[in-house]
Amino acid sequence: MLDLIVRGGQVVTPQGVGAWDVGVEGERIAAVAAAGTLPAESARVLDASGLVVVPGGIDPHTHLAHPIMSHPEQPSITLGPEDDTRGMAFGGTTTHIDFCYVRPGGSIAEALESRAARWKGNSYVDYAFHITLCGALELKVFEEMPEAIREGHPSFKVFTTNILPPHPRRTGNRLDFGRIAHAMDTAAAHGGLIVVHGEDDDVVQFNYERFRAEGRMDGANLHLVHSKISELLAFRRTTALARHTGAAVYFVHTSAREGVDTIAEARAQGLPVYGETLHQYACFNAEYYKTPRGFCSHTYPSLKFPEDQAALWKGLVRDGLSCLATDEYPTSLELKLRGRTIEDVTGGNVGAEARMGIAYSEGVVRRGMSLGRFADITSTNAARIFGLYPKKGVIAPGSDADLAFIDPGIKKTLGRDDFHVADYSPWEGWEVSGWPAMTMLRGALIAERGRLLGSPGTGRRLTRRIDPEVLRRPAC
Ligand SMILES: [Zn+2]
Repeated sequence: MLDLIVRGGQVVTPQGVGAWDVGVEGERIAAVAAAGTLPAESARVLDASGLVVVPGGIDPHTHLAHPIMSHPEQPSITLGPEDDTRGMAFGGTTTHIDFCYVRPGGSIAEALESRAARWKGNSYVDYAFHITLCGALELKVFEEMPEAIREGHPSFKVFTTNILPPHPRRTGNRLDFGRIAHAMDTAAAHGGLIVVHGEDDDVVQFNYERFRAEGRMDGANLHLVHSKISELLAFRRTTALARHTGAAVYFVHTSAREGVDTIAEARAQGLPVYGETLHQYACFNAEYYKTPRGFCSHTYPSLKFPEDQAALWKGLVRDGLSCLATDEYPTSLELKLRGRTIEDVTGGNVGAEARMGIAYSEGVVRRGMSLGRFADITSTNAARIFGLYPKKGVIAPGSDADLAFIDPGIKKTLGRDDFHVADYSPWEGWEVSGWPAMTMLRGALIAERGRLLGSPGTGRRLTRRIDPEVLRRPAC
């Protein structure tokens, strides 16, 4: 017996887009059927007429409750799940994947336990964790990988660069390529996937030294420090290693045409290589750094040039890039804008609430992205790549009833009132055509036209298993 019928929407499914009704039983979708054919009986009816109904968004890249490294003399931390996932609920995102950092001396099990404890009862939406391998890790940490994969944590993040400059001194994130190869070997043998922040550390660190020596300290030079060639070198070195080890690779925050091209080349050769970009990389370029609030859109590596934006959009709208993520790093505006030089700008921003709406407006309305492709890059592909599919990421019988309802009739300039996290959004002032109106998590609305219905305990922790097909060839 159905508990709920979502009626009258334009529903986006793997079989196509149509005027279908979605029947929900408990927390799951029970049926997708021709309009008016589901037995109403005692079921509640949710009127979705005029709305586009897509799988609830999945943001595969967030850093909540995360230490901020840009000002080591003033230690601080990003907003936690109890704050940031409120924005996800309003913005149509029903699942996010954050990170557990494992540093020398630590273990995967401990890192997972402490992050899981931090999230428990604090997230409005469902969640999972990637495991980040940082620094000169002991071999025994890599020996923990098979068990982590078996227990439902099959994705491992590595940084090919320390990202931030040598002044002032900070704890680095970089994993050397010897250890990356070792992690790839282990992942390939046990059903894991390697998530890569790809920038060439030699190039980035040399650029920091050189720009300091030349007095070119203005943060508006960040795209020349975190350069296009740096992305090219790191992506190529990584795909060479992926070919050699047989590991599947997912590049986070692709920012340059060179990155998109490298991913496309690897995929054309049949390698299981996937790419993500961020909505601010697609919508802004480095000229924007020169404006008063320009650094609001800075996330490492950096904004790039118009030709890079064009390549990112092509990858998103047509093929080549699989996911649109946020690299969410929520802080106050004051903290976000406190640095102005290449050495002290704060990276990351508040983007999760805007992600689905911006993707719809900029992708579907302005660039002709199909609704199927919109669902793929905002939800389905992340579910497939990270092993949540078909529980998450699809409107189909048996899947969780996670739905985002986009109202294409909403046309407005975004203002402060449209956002519910922190005290700024980089998207204030942006004109949109279409915006999320309601969000459903496992059969219950968690946000409805500006009203928050979920609570910080609504979200549940997820375990994952990646389909071997995704690890064998470019599957999405
Ligand atoms: Zn990140």
